[in-house]
Amino acid sequence: MSVSITDAKSAELYARAVQRLPGGVNSPVRAMRAIGRDPIFVDRAEGAELVDVDGNRYIDYVCSWGPLVHGHAHPEILAAIIDAAHRGTTFGAPTAGEIDLAEEVGRRMPAVEMLRMTSSGTEAAMSAIRLARAATGRTTLLKFAGAYHGHVDGLLARAGSGLATAGIPTSPGVPPSAAHETIIVDWNDGEAVARACAEHEFAAILAEPYPANMGLVPPVEGFLQLLRNQADDNGALLVFDEVITGFRVGPGGAQERDGVQPDLTVMGKVIGGGLPAAAFGGARSLMEHIAPAGDVYQAGTLSGNPLAVAAGMATLRMLDEPAYLRLGATTEALAGGLRDAAAVVGVPVSVVSVPGLLTVFFSETPPRDYPAAQACDLDGYAAWCRALLARGVYPPPSQFEAWFPSLAHTSEHLDRTLDAVHAAFAELA
Ligand code: PLP
Repeated sequence: MSVSITDAKSAELYARAVQRLPGGVNSPVRAMRAIGRDPIFVDRAEGAELVDVDGNRYIDYVCSWGPLVHGHAHPEILAAIIDAAHRGTTFGAPTAGEIDLAEEVGRRMPAVEMLRMTSSGTEAAMSAIRLARAATGRTTLLKFAGAYHGHVDGLLARAGSGLATAGIPTSPGVPPSAAHETIIVDWNDGEAVARACAEHEFAAILAEPYPANMGLVPPVEGFLQLLRNQADDNGALLVFDEVITGFRVGPGGAQERDGVQPDLTVMGKVIGGGLPAAAFGGARSLMEHIAPAGDVYQAGTLSGNPLAVAAGMATLRMLDEPAYLRLGATTEALAGGLRDAAAVVGVPVSVVSVPGLLTVFFSETPPRDYPAAQACDLDGYAAWCRALLARGVYPPPSQFEAWFPSLAHTSEHLDRTLDAVHAAFAELA
């Protein structure tokens, strides 16, 4: 079954967009260059389905790259946003909702006794690093190849996500001094972490506990505990970037699932329920360094925006235990179906999943670090993505990203997805 979609209106918009927006988009992975096509312009979305400007309908596994754990335009989240908007869109003064949200996060993540909200994950990561440097009196950071922590100067070297997708090893415009203060080691390489810790006094060891920006590459057994121990021995703070994993892989994120508590946690995506909100937090003794309690400066005109807080609270309120069980079951069913479909046609892929996240790696074995992820058959992945899009399934258009199944994906969506997946694999074989 070969399917063709019309994309005349998307093409028309793209021609206009490239005149005004670099690459035609406001964030690089939307461009879809890695899979050899132009971007799809979206008209609307509801639940698990996206409709583009040409009227093509897709089952969406990008879901805005993570915030939409309940799917698009969930009625309760929309109602919370509308209710908040009627009372005013922003005040530049505190609101009760910000306390509710901080208390809810604290219940889920006991390590987050206090938090500061920001508008993006990038800002939250940047501010967490500033706090770590101030608290330790040190400057050097340890980060992992293939991890992405937003577009902060010092964190772009060998970063995952859009940089990995575009093959950019590090960004021009980053001062050598900023890059110099970041030491990079391979994920899951405990010996390399120990060596780096023997050579440097780190302000922070910064990790996505379940890295999902080189595709999903979970830690090997004991690796997060090793990071905890190395940070303690080194005198560094352990910072978990749970922008993707927070409130998605479980009520208290990866730190709860793996039982390893960081000193600081960076949050984003789900916490804003589809509106711009993020946060960083940790122990009271650390967070009280932040102004105006302390003198580490951090601020934001729209930080803790009432609409974003309302969307985040509505999102978290619906994330109870049955919801997590359902999200886990949906992810497992999808992962199993993808594995079976690949096996039928003999395409060598490895499907890696944790509840709420998965990646289909075009490699015989699951990568355990960034070099292994880079060695995947990227052309094969690209061709498969194009074949899926032509059949109404919208996968992440990059090997170096995760799929984001949601609570809006029903068994009927999975059946339709797997039919398309079988056909797309067959087209490759
Ligand atoms: N940290 C991680 C793990 C991310 O995946 C991202 C974005 O995808 C960020 C930080 C940056 O967040 P934002 O895009 O909101 O700046």
